Amino acid sequence: MCLNPSLEKVRFVLEFVRYGASRCVEYKRKDLSWLKELAQRERTRQRKLHELAASGEHELKASPGRHCAWCPLLLKGCPVAKTNPYSQMTAEERLRFALWLQEAEKQNTKVLKDLMVERGLICYRDGNQGAYVADFVPVEKRFYPYRDAVAILDEWFRTHPPMSRA
Ligand code: SF4
Repeated sequence: MCLNPSLEKVRFVLEFVRYGASRCVEYKRKDLSWLKELAQRERTRQRKLHELAASGEHELKASPGRHCAWCPLLLKGCPVAKTNPYSQMTAEERLRFALWLQEAEKQNTKVLKDLMVERGLICYRDGNQGAYVADFVPVEKRFYPYRDAVAILDEWFRTHPPMSRA
């Protein structure tokens, strides 16, 4: 609006990448004065932060999160790389790891089921006294002879044409 006097309002969609949320705001010409004031104040604060970082006296804290996916320092230069879960692997390595976990889970479940067949219920208690149990859970299943079921379904579809089913 400062550069274009014909504009009366501007609409912004702000993306808060760290929190995965977005917010829409609209500013009118009458908001210009306080917006300028706010921008100048924030610019001063930003400059101070840059000076602090450049002086090396204060260590600026980095906090990892979803926003790391866009950060150019992610795989090289992140100050908290050692503990940042986003910088431990590349995206491709993550996918490979996910596939490996999937396969490991399948294999582990298969072995666990074989052990349960042999030994019955398996219990485990962790250091916090949390109890975990692996056991077969009966699932009720019903089977209907195909020949009988088809005749019943045919009859149902015949007496319930698509229009009357809605
Ligand atoms: S990768 Fe590191 S430097 Fe980049 S946003 Fe994440 S925590 Fe901050």
